[in-house]
Amino acid sequence: MKRMLRNLISNAFYRFNVLRGVTHKGVRILCYHRVNEISGDYLTVPYQNFEMQMHHLAKARYRTVGLENILKGEMTGREIVVTFDDGYLDNYEYAFSVMRKYGFVGTIFCVLDHIGKADYLGLDHICEMAQSGFSFGCHTKTHPHLPEIGIDQKGIEIVQAKKALEDLTGLPIQYFCYPYGEFDPESVSVVKEAGFFGACTNIPGANRAIDAFRLERTEISPEDSIDDFRKKLAGGFDFMHRALHAVRGRS
Ligand SMILES: [Zn+2]
Repeated sequence: MKRMLRNLISNAFYRFNVLRGVTHKGVRILCYHRVNEISGDYLTVPYQNFEMQMHHLAKARYRTVGLENILKGEMTGREIVVTFDDGYLDNYEYAFSVMRKYGFVGTIFCVLDHIGKADYLGLDHICEMAQSGFSFGCHTKTHPHLPEIGIDQKGIEIVQAKKALEDLTGLPIQYFCYPYGEFDPESVSVVKEAGFFGACTNIPGANRAIDAFRLERTEISPEDSIDDFRKKLAGGFDFMHRALHAVRGRS
């Protein structure tokens, strides 16, 4: 019943967007967490689904780019950004090999204190992926709820974490991602002052009038069929996701 309703609404908005000719306006930033063969987790997109989704992007002639490209505004309408939150080891073990096959690159937001721990990327993985064109961003030091912590703690989670990630990896860490998609005005100010060029939220949608510190993303769910994925790329789920986001306050 839930699936039927989801299909009905997304189909209606997909057709509505096609009629309005807005399916390819704005750059879409996809949001993944985990990709592997152990299903049943709301953060995990099954490996086979991920493979089909990347195959679809390649067939539809999408070009994966970094966040810096979309902020520069050098767009042709076929660009897409593929992001992964939290820095799980399966991003290397599963997603990386699939994406490399298609010549795709991604952006991974690491939590500083998780690097090298069981189930998370280690420094060697990060360096190997960076050499293949992947970008790395900051997802704080410990993954807190940013609006719930004070200014000093925000400095540790945002400013110090950026510096520590740069020192550890030797890579430029230019983009930030708010844990749980939660941010308050103070967090946004600290992110700007830390020298980041932009930050990802969980606000659903494509980035048309680009606000660098409130970049919108499209979450890919474990249950998405390839038809759902195609509709998500065209904005068929945006209305439904925005409504859910407004109700929950976050996603
Ligand atoms: Zn996260």
